[in-house]
Amino acid sequence: MYAEIILPLPLYSTFTYEIPEELETCLKIGSRVLVQFGRKKYYTGIVESTHSQTPNGYDVKPIMGVLDTEPIIKYPQLKHWHWIADYYLCSPGEVYKAAVPTGLKPESETYITLNVDSETIVQDKLSENQQIIIEILKTKKKFKISDIENHFSKFSPNSKTITNEINKLLELGLIEIAEKIEERYTEKKETYVTIPIERGDNESLHKLFDLVGRSQIQEKTLVAWLDLSGWMRKNNELKTVSKEDLIATSNCSQGVLRTMINKGIFNLEKRSINRFNKISANKNQEIAELSSAQKNALSEIHKSFLSTQTTLLHGVTGSGKTEIYNHLIADVLSKKKQVLFLVPEISLTTQLTNRLRKVFGDSMLVYHSKFSDNERVDIWKRLLSTNEPLLILGVRSSVFLPFSNLGLVIIDEEHESSYKQYDPAPRYNARDAAIVLASMHGAKTLLGSATPSIETYSKALSGKYGLVTILERFAGATMPDVKIIDMRKQRKQKEAKGILSAPLLKSTEENLKQHSQSIFFQNRRGFAPIVVCKQCGWTPKCHNCDVSLVYHKNTDLLKCHYCGFSQQLPRLCPACGQNSIETFGYGTERIAEEIHECFPDARISRMDLDTTRNKNSYQEIIEEFSQHDTDILVGTQMISKGLDFGNVRLVGVVNADTLLNFPDFRSNERAFNMLEQVSGRAGRRENKGEVIIQTTRPDHPVLAKVVAHDFLGFYNEEIQTRKEYAYPPFSRIINIYVKNKDATVCARAASILANALMQTFGSRVLGPEKPLVGKIALWFLQQIMLKVESEASIKKVKNLLRQIIAATAHFPEMKSSVIYFDVDPV
Ligand code: ADP
Ligand code: ZN
Ligand code: ZN
Repeated sequence: MYAEIILPLPLYSTFTYEIPEELETCLKIGSRVLVQFGRKKYYTGIVESTHSQTPNGYDVKPIMGVLDTEPIIKYPQLKHWHWIADYYLCSPGEVYKAAVPTGLKPESETYITLNVDSETIVQDKLSENQQIIIEILKTKKKFKISDIENHFSKFSPNSKTITNEINKLLELGLIEIAEKIEERYTEKKETYVTIPIERGDNESLHKLFDLVGRSQIQEKTLVAWLDLSGWMRKNNELKTVSKEDLIATSNCSQGVLRTMINKGIFNLEKRSINRFNKISANKNQEIAELSSAQKNALSEIHKSFLSTQTTLLHGVTGSGKTEIYNHLIADVLSKKKQVLFLVPEISLTTQLTNRLRKVFGDSMLVYHSKFSDNERVDIWKRLLSTNEPLLILGVRSSVFLPFSNLGLVIIDEEHESSYKQYDPAPRYNARDAAIVLASMHGAKTLLGSATPSIETYSKALSGKYGLVTILERFAGATMPDVKIIDMRKQRKQKEAKGILSAPLLKSTEENLKQHSQSIFFQNRRGFAPIVVCKQCGWTPKCHNCDVSLVYHKNTDLLKCHYCGFSQQLPRLCPACGQNSIETFGYGTERIAEEIHECFPDARISRMDLDTTRNKNSYQEIIEEFSQHDTDILVGTQMISKGLDFGNVRLVGVVNADTLLNFPDFRSNERAFNMLEQVSGRAGRRENKGEVIIQTTRPDHPVLAKVVAHDFLGFYNEEIQTRKEYAYPPFSRIINIYVKNKDATVCARAASILANALMQTFGSRVLGPEKPLVGKIALWFLQQIMLKVESEASIKKVKNLLRQIIAATAHFPEMKSSVIYFDVDPV
């Protein structure tokens, strides 16, 4: 028997391994197995299928071991992986790599050790580099190759020689290389307290009390233990008592506990626990009663689910979509099925966690990218071990969790581009992948948004999706007034103070006086995005990427937002030597500073990538603002959507220009969504909200639609433009990227490929051209756009695409290049 194994590698197929007889009975589809790949490396793979067809042409290696008694990939998860690989043109191995936490994929690492007693090595026969390696190896018994490389780079910047040097040392017999499989998951252990007697043995229990003697605190501790364990409630199962709980209940000290252990009253025992089994959260709130508009919407959704798998809930900001979701969730949980609730940003999980926890208690689990790998493994294990009805609230990657029995998928803010993964593969859109996942489980999908994407809305209008609309805010709150401020006029008339226009300053001041809160939105982080030399025009560029560096004032560093490179801001211009370097443009940090200068007493906080590096920082910033411990929140995209703050009356959009000027076919959609969403944060309760948008393009047509909160008007105009230029939803786009470390080879490879594509696809091929950022982390990029009619068979298109790439693979330019795809780019 043979098994097809998925390995976590970017290779386009599965690999065949032999199943040794002794493993035949325990090996199951979806189980993890350990296999050797190449000469040395060991990987954890997933069994995809089994068969009895002997592959010819090569030696088949045996499976080394089966890691699971029960599969860790549940049906139809594997099917879903294959759908993603197929649709987004990547390998199942890449999906596996993204889907399963690292802790569940032990791999081998190469270790190097000294082979001989280091004293006997005659150093002067070795090259300088070899001596350095020996010195490094002397400091520790064994080293990973990667660690040696790290140490080595401190001495010599050219790490390419290191492999050669290691090989020479190997030949000389001075070092040894071994592969070791790394276990990366660490279980969480908890300490439990037990007593050394049988339940029901009253005589021994008396003896324990005798041992306690006259110590009141020891007696109290023993009684607390008996109480916590339920010792006396004979009909119930005995409960485990953790050390932590015992100390908390009895108030005893560590010392008292130690004394009691020494006397033989208690024993300690360490046990592994799942970090997510014990979520001490109680429901303390009933699901809210719905308004009549909400009730209507809910019953329409139910009706729509009878005939369609997917329904769009288009409800204006503040219409109370979350409360409607709650009713649907409760309904599905009561039918003993699971619910996946997707949100586009971690900042949204924070506030929703608090809201949903009150209603669903410990039936809810949360999953996002700030979790450690150990925590991810525990969520997996928890889901694998149970069919309980659970609600999982998560971001993009939670579509990969091992659900057993999905009944409903909710995709909030479905229009959000952060549902799309850019890099690395799989470059999937979690919204679309979740809709497919739901259909594989026979579950329903509800898409929610105040500003649906053009694609989704057109599907809803065509009847492919159901459509339910709420046009009013909850509890009679009204939509905020939106004012557009012409910044050119403001500057000409010297009304603006720095970046803040007179009307924005005035409203902020009034707002502060009335003890209301304000949100300032800026589409950028950092202090001053652009640094320029006034004399010669020099700007600092990243060494690895084709982008300008961004100045971050708090760390006084210039940073690359693509590869993470950073350097000090030079005092003198490196090109002309003059003291003439200036910073332009405005990031969140600078805005916060200018607001502070105008309103020194206001409490200001900032939410952007820089201020949310820690796991809990989202929570802290949002909590502070919710409690009105801060007056003004300055932030990027993160604050623009979904958040529900009752006391925000004013929203200021500091500069809408970057949004309005973006050169791509989605720029209007993106600008409308962002501005309408951020406006939606204002006036969500009794007080009418005010939105002030600053721009140098006050006549931009998108702004008029935002002023009128006119989604439908915007949609009708936008869909015309899309039709005219054959953009989605009237076509499908696949971007093909060619990556090479040499700029000319990259361009040549791209034109070879584009020519070959044109022979089949004709004018559907656009490019090649250098993308907006033409070099990332030392790799040059070229982009070819394939735009096919939406009626065309996408399967056929992708097959042709694969064939053409295979047919050009023999060109040397293609051999040294990496090709990848972005299907349905956003
Ligand atoms: P949306 O997601 O549509 O922007 P939310 O669900 O955040 O709107 O609702 C806005 C506010 O109104 C929230 O604070 C929410 O608690 C409140 N709310 C909405 N519906 C109800 C309801 N039926 N009963 C009580 N409060 C509600
Ligand atoms: Zn860079
Ligand atoms: Zn200069």
